[in-house]
Amino acid sequence: MDAKDQSPDFDSVLVLYIGGEGRSGSTVLAELLGNHDGFFPVGEIRGVWHALEDDSLCGCGRPFSKCDFWHQVGKRAFGGWDRIDVGTMLNRDGKFARHRRIPRLLMSPFRWIDSADLDQHREVLSRLYSAIKEESGCSVIVDSTKDPAYALILRKIRQLDLRFVHLVRDSRAVAYSWSKKRVEQPEYRHHPVLKDSFLSSRSSWIEARDWVIKNLVFHLLARSAQYRFLKYESLISDPAQELAHLLRLADQGQVNANDAEFEFLPFHMLGGNRVRFEQGQIKLRVDDEWKTKMPISQRRIVGLLTLPLLIAYGYVDVPVKLERSL
Ligand SMILES: [Zn+2]
Repeated sequence: MDAKDQSPDFDSVLVLYIGGEGRSGSTVLAELLGNHDGFFPVGEIRGVWHALEDDSLCGCGRPFSKCDFWHQVGKRAFGGWDRIDVGTMLNRDGKFARHRRIPRLLMSPFRWIDSADLDQHREVLSRLYSAIKEESGCSVIVDSTKDPAYALILRKIRQLDLRFVHLVRDSRAVAYSWSKKRVEQPEYRHHPVLKDSFLSSRSSWIEARDWVIKNLVFHLLARSAQYRFLKYESLISDPAQELAHLLRLADQGQVNANDAEFEFLPFHMLGGNRVRFEQGQIKLRVDDEWKTKMPISQRRIVGLLTLPLLIAYGYVDVPVKLERSL
């Protein structure tokens, strides 16, 4: 059954989806939003099947199988996580939520040979998000998955009221972050096999390509959904002002006058930056280490490959000669 064809008698689930490229500050943004009543950050929910398979640590510090919140979500959504075939979910996720699938996901009127499989995938996701809403008791689920193909899958789930925060950070800062090797994965620090594993790094070429594709898709999505463009640097410089816009986007109240201070709280976040395991006051500071430590060749490659968007976003000034010729 197609999730779109179900009865209109449903409680819609408002999902504030943080879209864009990884290493753009989405975990911090989710934490900031979580400081406001009504918002419930779940991290990169797309990774829930990996969390189920590997029993990785939830942001609350407990393994997925020991986290009361996720236990209740699984029970409510599926009658228990043991009713889910993890291999099937991972296969479907790997098949549908990928770059090469984006053109087909955008051409929604067409039915493809594996459309029934995609419908079933959406049905499972629909139950998952509904259960999160019910168990959290919050009005807004903050999903920092960021991936555009996954967003296109969610877009056709009728129960979801999907709204986008398009989070953008300078491509050179993002590429520098992805080029780092031996980045730890704290969600596996308890894991007997994976505890010494690291996140894979990416080349400048690959990262520049991904940065452009992901950002362009979210500009396309802005035409069909409620949407807010947000620069990482603006968020860190003036969080109260930017959060006020996002609260309006999610139909929530005003930012309080004393909201200049934020805390890391033990949210049940799956995936994302390691800061999700921190607690205490959030000290916001623009991370611009790339300006001094990024090799000049890497900086030039990424800068050239992403130049049109860098100019459009105001990260690079248009040379005077070029500006006159435009
Ligand atoms: Zn938890």
